[in-house]
Formats: sequence, structure tokens, C-alpha cells
Amino acid sequence: MNTKAIITSALPYSNGEIHLGHVASTYLPADVTTRYLKQKGVEAYYICASDDYGTPILIQSEKEKKSPQEYVDYWNKRDYDDFTSFDIDFDFFYKTSSPENIEFVQYVFKKLDEAGHIYQNEIVQFYCKNDKKFLPDRYVIGTCPYCSADEQYSDLCEKCGRVPEEIGNPHCSICGETPVKEKTNHYFFKLKNFAEQLLEYLNQNDNLQSDVKKYVQNWVKDGLIDWDITRDISWGVPVPGENADNKVFYGWFDNHLAYISSTMKFLNDIGKDGKSFWNDADIYHFIGKDYIIIIFSYLQ
Ligand SMILES: [Zn+2]
Ligand SMILES: [Zn+2]
Repeated sequence: MNTKAIITSALPYSNGEIHLGHVASTYLPADVTTRYLKQKGVEAYYICASDDYGTPILIQSEKEKKSPQEYVDYWNKRDYDDFTSFDIDFDFFYKTSSPENIEFVQYVFKKLDEAGHIYQNEIVQFYCKNDKKFLPDRYVIGTCPYCSADEQYSDLCEKCGRVPEEIGNPHCSICGETPVKEKTNHYFFKLKNFAEQLLEYLNQNDNLQSDVKKYVQNWVKDGLIDWDITRDISWGVPVPGENADNKVFYGWFDNHLAYISSTMKFLNDIGKDGKSFWNDADIYHFIGKDYIIIIFSYLQ
């Protein structure tokens, strides 16, 4: 048995209360696993963090007339208090908006850029002339093209669960005005560059459930789509470099990196060599049911 282990669980989104389903599906199993490993004499640490960025948080904080920082600080503490009242025993509970995570995300971005996995591309996006801002994701509300439900987000119809390609009757979720379309420069991650490695990993790995394996294999074979990793909003990890003024990373680019940055912060603070501990340890990620996530994380 490996003598070192790191256990993480899905990062709770700083935008509302946790409920029993979260505890039962994700945090309790992770807590039990950590306690079991510790009893077996394994040096095991349970690390988690709040997921602090994204447009839903920004929109809600604006509605409540709070700064986004104040808003997520409240939910970070509230979630932590709720978890600990269930005796969920984190060794460390941190946040994606920490200075350590911001620095780490920018570092990873620069490394990906240097390795040729990032490019810039002009896209057309809704812009509200009244609020003088771009309107990504939930900032636009309209009619779902599939089920015709009104007042749905442009990035998700909550009635039918589909992601509209283009929403009908678009309007700004802040002021209600009809937005115009403007050009903006975004950064893209070349997911395609990793298709071969992913397929090789899937083909060689016999520990995965076969239906999960088949699902991901088909997905990769159908062709991976390059991923728009930036947003023109004021809340997020700032994108470093030229042409990046007022741009931040999309929340799904920064949040998973907080597993690593939070663990490093904790281990270094208790006098360990965080990087070698991470690379030597067994790592258990508890994500929740029905999610398929592949995480490669060897630190160089
Ligand atoms: Zn719909
Ligand atoms: Zn507006």
C-alpha cells in the first residue's frame, strides 16, 4: 500500500447552499476514505476548495449589490461551516480565488502557450451598449430554439437541458435591452493536440468501466473541439500577456487547477515538499455521480 495519499472532492460552487445530496454523493465518501487510510497508517490529507469564479456568481453578486469577492467569501465560509457541522474533516479547505491559484493558473497557461497549445481567434459575441459590456454565457437570456421555452440562459435551457446554439429573442440579463453583436479576441486551447494521447491512455487502461471507456473513446474519435478559455468579464483569473486587457479565464479553465494549488499551499505550509509528495502519492478525486472526468496531473 502506498504510504502517501491525497484525497479531494468536487469543489462546491460559491453560489448557494450545499444540500444532503452533495454530502452523501461526494464529501462523505471522501471523508470516510481519508479516515480509513489514516487508520491504516497512510499519510493521507483531504483537500478541498470553493469554486469562486464564473458568470453566475458575478451576476448574483451584482443583484445583491455586493462585490464578487465579498459574495464568494461569504459562501466559502458558509459551505465550510456546513460541511464541518456534518463532521466532514478537511485537512485544508481553500478557494480557487486564492493568490496561489491565480499564480498557478497563469503559470500553466504560459506553459501551454509556450508549448504551442494556445492560439488567439476573433469571435463574435453579444454586447450590451447600455451596460457597456460583453455578455457571455448567462448574461444573455432568450427563447430556447429546441423547446421554445422563454427566459432561458444562452448557455443552458433549464426546461429541456440542452445547450442552445443560438438563442431566440436575446436580451441582456442585467437591463433587458436587446444586445448587439461585437467582435472580440479570445484565447483557445488546442484540445485536438491531445486526442492521440487520450486514445492511447484509454486503450491501455483496463481499470475503467467499459461503458465509460467507450463513451469517451467515441467522443475523442468524433473529433475534439478547441476550447474557448477566456471571457470578457471583470471577475476571474486575469489572462496574462499582451492583448489580454480585461480578460479573465473561463471558470472551467482555472477551477480544477485549485486541487493542485491548494494541496501545494497546504503541504508547503506544514513543511513538506509539496511537489514530490503529490507525485509520490495515490490521488483520489471524488467528483460526484454521473460525471466523467479524466485528470492527468504529474507535476514537473
Ligand atoms: Zn429548451
Ligand atoms: Zn444590459
